[in-house]
Amino acid sequence: MPKMKAVQVNAARQFEVVEREIPAPGAGQLRIRVEACGVCHSDVVVKEAVWPGLELPRIPGHEVAGVIDAVGSGVANWREGQRVGVGWFGGNCGYCDSCRRGDFVLCRNMLIAGVSYDGGYAEYMVAPASAVAKIPDDLGAMEAAPLLCAGVTTFNPLRQCGARPGDVVAVQGVGGLGHLGVQFAAKMGYTTVAIARGKDKEAEARQLGAHHYIDGSTQDVAAALQALGGARVILTTVTNADAMSGVIGGLASNGTLVIVGISQEPLKVSTLDLILGRRSVLGWPSGTSLDSQDALAFSARQGVRPMIETMPLERAAEAYERMMSGKARFRMVLTMGRM
Ligand SMILES: [Zn+2]
Ligand SMILES: [Zn+2]
Repeated sequence: MPKMKAVQVNAARQFEVVEREIPAPGAGQLRIRVEACGVCHSDVVVKEAVWPGLELPRIPGHEVAGVIDAVGSGVANWREGQRVGVGWFGGNCGYCDSCRRGDFVLCRNMLIAGVSYDGGYAEYMVAPASAVAKIPDDLGAMEAAPLLCAGVTTFNPLRQCGARPGDVVAVQGVGGLGHLGVQFAAKMGYTTVAIARGKDKEAEARQLGAHHYIDGSTQDVAAALQALGGARVILTTVTNADAMSGVIGGLASNGTLVIVGISQEPLKVSTLDLILGRRSVLGWPSGTSLDSQDALAFSARQGVRPMIETMPLERAAEAYERMMSGKARFRMVLTMGRM
C-alpha cells in the first residue's frame, strides 16, 4: 500500500510525524491531495483531547486546501483535479430536524474535519463530498487555507447580520480572525471600525481597510463608537468576556453584538441597554461548505487575503506553539514538501 506523511496527535496528546497508508474514499467521499493546511486555535480540542467523543490518535486540521485525486462511489458533482478545501464544517447527516429544515450548520450530528475524522495535517485526507468547497483558480492554496475557517467565520456573520452598505460595523480584535473581519467589512461597503489594544495596531488596521480605529487600552470604546453614531454590528473576535461586555454600550439602536470568539467567562449585559435600544447579542457558528465557497469566491474577487506564516508539515508542533503563543502574524499554514 502506498504511504503518506502525516502529523497526528497521539494518545499521550503529543504531535508526532508518522507514516500512514493513503486512505481510500468510501461511498459519498472524496480524497484530497492536500497542498496546505492552516493551524487554527480550535485544533486545541484535538491536542488537549477535550472534544466529547474524540478518539486518539487523530490527524487534526480543518483549514485544508488541495486537489481532488480520487472520487468515491455515488458522488455526483465533483471530479478528479478540482481544487477544493475543507473547513470546520465536515459534513452533515441529512436526517436530523435541523438538516430537514435546511439548516445544515446546526446539524445535531455534524462532522468536524480533523476532529470526527482525520484532517489536513497530512499529505492526503478523505472527506464527505458535502464538506468540500470549490477554490477559485486565482487563489493559491496557502491563502485559501485560512479562509476555510477564520475566513468563513468572519465573512458569514458579516454578510448575514443585518448591516447594510454604509452602516457602521466594528470588528473587535485584529488578530487571526479580526484581520480578515476588517477586510471583509470594508469590502462589503460598511463604514469599518477596528477595535484593538495599543497604538501600534492602528496603521495595520487601516491598511486592512478600517476607516476608524479605536484603541481599547486608552479610549472608552463604547463612547468612541457612539461618537460615530453607534455600531449597527460589532463582530467580536476576542476571547475576553469583559472586553466583549465593554463594547455593548457602543451599539446603535437595533444593533447586534455578534460573537465568534470563545470565552470561558460569562458576559455582563445591561438588560435595559438591550430593551431600550432593541439591541441583541448573537453567537454565530461559522458556516457550511457552501458558505466557505462563497467566502473564497468573494476573497478572490475583492482582494481579501489572509496574512500568513508558513512551515512545512513536519514542523506542525512548532507551528501550533507559535499560533498558541499569539505571536503568529496572523495565521500559521502548513505546507506539503512536494509543493
Ligand atoms: Zn478553525
Ligand atoms: Zn443533521
